[in-house]
Amino acid sequence: MTSLTGARSAEALDAEDGLAPLRAEFRIPPHENGDSVYLCGNSLGLQPIAAAGLLAEELEDWARFGVEGHFRGRRPWVDYHRQFAAGLARLTGAQPVEIAAMNTLTVNLHLLMVSFYRPSSDRWRLLIEKPAFPSDRYAAESQVRFHGLDPADALIELAPREGESWIRQDDIHRVLEEQGDTIALVLLPGVQYYSGQLFDMAGITAAARRRGCRVGWDLAHAIGNVPLALHDWGCDFATWCCYKYLNAGPGAVSGVFVHERHARSPDLPRFAGWWGHDRASRFDMGPEFRPMPGAEGWQLSNPPVFSLTPLIASLELFDRAGMAALRAKSRRLTGYLETQLAERLPGRIRVLTPPDPEQRGCQLSLAVEAGPDRGREVFDRLAEAGIVCDWREPDVIRVAPVPLYNRFQDCRRFVDVLVEITG
Ligand SMILES: *Cc1c(COP(=O)(O)O)cnc(C)c1O
Repeated sequence: MTSLTGARSAEALDAEDGLAPLRAEFRIPPHENGDSVYLCGNSLGLQPIAAAGLLAEELEDWARFGVEGHFRGRRPWVDYHRQFAAGLARLTGAQPVEIAAMNTLTVNLHLLMVSFYRPSSDRWRLLIEKPAFPSDRYAAESQVRFHGLDPADALIELAPREGESWIRQDDIHRVLEEQGDTIALVLLPGVQYYSGQLFDMAGITAAARRRGCRVGWDLAHAIGNVPLALHDWGCDFATWCCYKYLNAGPGAVSGVFVHERHARSPDLPRFAGWWGHDRASRFDMGPEFRPMPGAEGWQLSNPPVFSLTPLIASLELFDRAGMAALRAKSRRLTGYLETQLAERLPGRIRVLTPPDPEQRGCQLSLAVEAGPDRGREVFDRLAEAGIVCDWREPDVIRVAPVPLYNRFQDCRRFVDVLVEITG
């Protein structure tokens, strides 16, 4: 159990939290006469207040300039995506050339697998975790089939051991040791969506590369949640969505990382589009594709401006807070929630997320043990009480206290209501 928060009250912990003022930068969804307790930033992050003004500016530029907004808008649309490279690079520990904001997550998984899952007769397998997020599994399996391979042989799905809820890192290393020379691509999540487990991305990347595998990370639940150092870790690619911890709004544009060692590899097979073409000659409208250096060379289409704009507001808040301070608060906040659950609900709730703060982000995944099959009922009653968290079949309630806008009081209130419901 953590001693980070000791016996202090939630109010005292909030009062001494230097990041507490950031909550005022977000729209908190209301419930009855007050705020809801929003613990669902792992699913959809809250709206930064600045987003509406920024979106209004883009609409205004469209109204004023029409097509000329591509060049004359206050943030010209022709290069709109480029303003995100620096901020996303800071959050991922990347060089700006390694970053592009484009498409949506599953689309990017496919585009990157086209380039980095290149099965051959002696190295053809694709390693993922089980249970992977369905979209990732569908993408991986369909890539395997696309190459004419049989998923029963080519797709390795590594699950937690019987009766355990997260994957032992040792088991990953053992698979790499035993089967690594047949594995073309290792595709794992930085933070697993169901269990909340944070993987040792540095160690796994290094081990997989020693075995000659390509390595890609799905950072949907990791970016904005835990510190990342993608360039130094040396993975081949990564991709993420920007609507969870990055608060860029429903369906917001995704981001990709392609390691700098692939930045000038025009021969790397890829599916091409005009926005990935050399910027200087893009509007010559020539027939021959010459990719931009770096991650931008994987772009297909011109940037969807309205699906990018709210990210400006959110990245500004991340820069203001700093990922190190956010992570420090996050550990205290999640540790506080864990302590409250253990002390006030002994035997009624089982935490499926690793207890080691080094092996998790902010999310805790909870199984209700207060009675058989009570999980869904408990979840529904939480919702009635204005607690927003989420339910994942078959039996898990996920709660994610987010350090940008959640308070220690939110965690305490969640546990208060849970005690009431399960009592
Ligand atoms: C949220 C999430 C997705 C969502 O994919 P979209 O293409 O953005 O709809 C995919 N994979 C993982 C692991 C996720 O957490």
